[in-house]
Amino acid sequence: MYEFDVVIVGAGISGLHAARQLEDEFKVALVEESSSIGKYGNRVVNRDVFSKQLKKETGEEIIINSIDEFNFFSPGGKRVIIKEKNRGFIIDKGKAEEEMFKGLGSTFTLLNTKVIEIKGNELITNNNKIKFNFLVGADGTFSTIRRFVTNEKPIAVNAYYEVVEGEGLTSCVLAKDIADGFYGWSLDLNGETELGIGSLSGNVHERFKTFVNSFKTLYSSYVPRLRFRGIILRSVVDKKVKDNIALIGDASGGEPLMGSSIHKALDEAEILARAIRKGTLENYEKKWNEKLGKEFKMQEKIREKLEAIENEKLDELFEKNKNLYSEGLVNGLFKELLKEET
Ligand SMILES: Cc1cc2nc3c(=O)[nH]c(=O)nc-3n(C[C@H](O)[C@H](O)[C@H](O)COP(=O)(O)OP(=O)(O)OC[C@H]3O[C@@H](n4cnc5c(N)ncnc54)[C@H](O)[C@@H]3O)c2cc1C
Repeated sequence: MYEFDVVIVGAGISGLHAARQLEDEFKVALVEESSSIGKYGNRVVNRDVFSKQLKKETGEEIIINSIDEFNFFSPGGKRVIIKEKNRGFIIDKGKAEEEMFKGLGSTFTLLNTKVIEIKGNELITNNNKIKFNFLVGADGTFSTIRRFVTNEKPIAVNAYYEVVEGEGLTSCVLAKDIADGFYGWSLDLNGETELGIGSLSGNVHERFKTFVNSFKTLYSSYVPRLRFRGIILRSVVDKKVKDNIALIGDASGGEPLMGSSIHKALDEAEILARAIRKGTLENYEKKWNEKLGKEFKMQEKIREKLEAIENEKLDELFEKNKNLYSEGLVNGLFKELLKEET
């Protein structure tokens, strides 16, 4: 039987960052059900998240493109453009995970190891048992560890996206009727473009077709190269800790309205590492609330407003604010845009 001070389940960005924070002081194990590290995905991060939290673990090679212009479209196609060099970056998630993994030191990694059950201070996996003092659930959207902490489940949207040949804009589209409860997006991947939508209701593939037809101006050609379906989380669970088990990253939820789930994952890994260094998880939620609570409350408020506002009113607001400047990426824009409505 293995025995560790800290066992982290999941080798995505949150688990890898947590391992990095803890491995110098503790005997750490990273448990991953896949046979390799690094899963495909293009992700948006703002410049501070990249330069202050990611860059030193990943280097700059993970950047696919910088975001020098971010376009926001209202349902009727009105546009607000935020232009600023290196406002954010589109990163290669799989490469980021690979680089973070390469940089690990003493962390002991168990690949092909799926956690199935927790019994007291013991993890039961498909091929062994692992004893822990602290357990970190960094096991993503369909977290197994979450079941041992809370009955809550984050709200999830169905996502469908395609990588198409040719240039496109980096944008966020409030196609409210098509991408209900979420939005459409387009990412300029430097020669290719990712187009996608998220939707609370099903038939996301049909909705995607309508989205593409309605926003033809977003791309110069339409030859799909890759197609994906997935789940994007849209809320955060309240309870993130139980005894000596804590949740970080998508295991505790996400808030993609602002493209800030990676930011959340990295912050949580850091908050949790500080708690473990103190020898107790008692303050993890309190510290979480101090650092992230305000931002997430604001996001909820913005989402409620966006969902309540009629399409015509949104078009009007976009028209009126077409020269708007905002800090941050999506969150800053919507906060400014909806100021008068709050
Ligand atoms: C389509 C899409 C677009 C997104 N866009 C953005 C964006 O633009 N910006 C942003 O900030 N965020 C975005 N996100 C969210 C972001 O990708 C995640 O928040 C981030 O990658 C952190 O993930 P994680 O480490 O918590 O989980 P994951 O990356 O999901 O890692 C969890 C790991 O746990 C492993 N695992 C699961 N169950 C078990 C088990 N029982 N035993 C062992 N191992 C297990 C999995 O194999 C996986 O490797 C997006 C997500 C999606 C799906």
